Amino acid sequence: MTFAASMQEIQAFYPLLKSPARIVITTHQKPDGDAMGSSLGLYHFLVGLGHTVTVVSPTNWASFLKWMPGCDKVIDFELNKEKVIATLEDTEILFCLDFNVLHRTKNMEEHLCRLSCVKVLIDHHQQPQEEAFTYGISDTKKSSTSEMVYDFIVGSGYREKINKEIAECLYTGVMTDTGSFRFPSASANVHRMIADLKDAGLGHTVVHENIYDNFLENRLRFTGHVLLNRMEVFYEYNTALMAVTKQDLLRFHMKTGDTEGLVNYLLTIQGMKLAALVIDRDEERKWSFRSKGDFDANTFARKNFEGGGHYNAAGGRSNDTLDNTVQKFKQVIKEYALQLQ
Ligand code: 5GP
Ligand code: MN
Repeated sequence: MTFAASMQEIQAFYPLLKSPARIVITTHQKPDGDAMGSSLGLYHFLVGLGHTVTVVSPTNWASFLKWMPGCDKVIDFELNKEKVIATLEDTEILFCLDFNVLHRTKNMEEHLCRLSCVKVLIDHHQQPQEEAFTYGISDTKKSSTSEMVYDFIVGSGYREKINKEIAECLYTGVMTDTGSFRFPSASANVHRMIADLKDAGLGHTVVHENIYDNFLENRLRFTGHVLLNRMEVFYEYNTALMAVTKQDLLRFHMKTGDTEGLVNYLLTIQGMKLAALVIDRDEERKWSFRSKGDFDANTFARKNFEGGGHYNAAGGRSNDTLDNTVQKFKQVIKEYALQLQ
């Protein structure tokens, strides 16, 4: 492993944009709107500068992202291991977007660790593995990695390179990570950026429709089923919980991405401060946590469910059974009774 002593600031990387290079962009497993949006936004920008660029996802992704410009060129590592490994070995620059610890790339981690190329981090999660990157920017105050890619493009002096494709990709990421511009992270700078993307040709309505109105009937029926039958509300802790079984997923033919956003329904109940969703996946029980106000979901997930993320949105996991991990959750929230008032 050739880890830099410490990550250098992103401005020091800008001169490297000038000479054409072989570049790989990667992101976290099961990429969401921001992971895919930031990766593809950067992809179009770098291709426009004359670089040879490959985007690699560690796993598959939701079908509601497939309309995105360039998405058809993204390589799924799990389906193309040898090709990806060969591309990685030949790459001069690796961009890591929307994650900050290499294990978020699942089975790609061991291959990324081995690389001695320049590694650049652009991310907004807490506690980055800084020693793994040559250059980078890690800022938890940023709404999204897509906002940071916009800052990267403008900061490096190439604002005029932002076109409709880049704008659509970056808008997707900011829109999905800010809950359509409702979270506190949707700063004045975010709104100024969106105005700038509009000037660059963005049609925002079509992006909303492509992301939010692009599901099959069974996904809506699944949502109805789990809201009716799988939700518990603990008013004394201002907490709502939903536990989705393997059977639920099978019965409604749920695919990657179909459960995204589900946890947010729980926070729509008056007074809720914490929403928790656990899904019985094949390989693990996967938790999603969302909080409102001053409840720190990142610390909660990190301490109790082997996870992390942001202050108000985090994830976690468990190898235990669905019932056992749910029981653990019910015990654990008792310790947080004060913070949840
Ligand atoms: P989601 O609930 O949408 O899967 O994730 C919410 C946030 O937490 C995302 O920003 C995601 O990157 C982060 N996150 C989800 N699962 C994990 C995990 O297992 N570990 C860490 N460190 N972060 C996670
Ligand atoms: Mn993000």
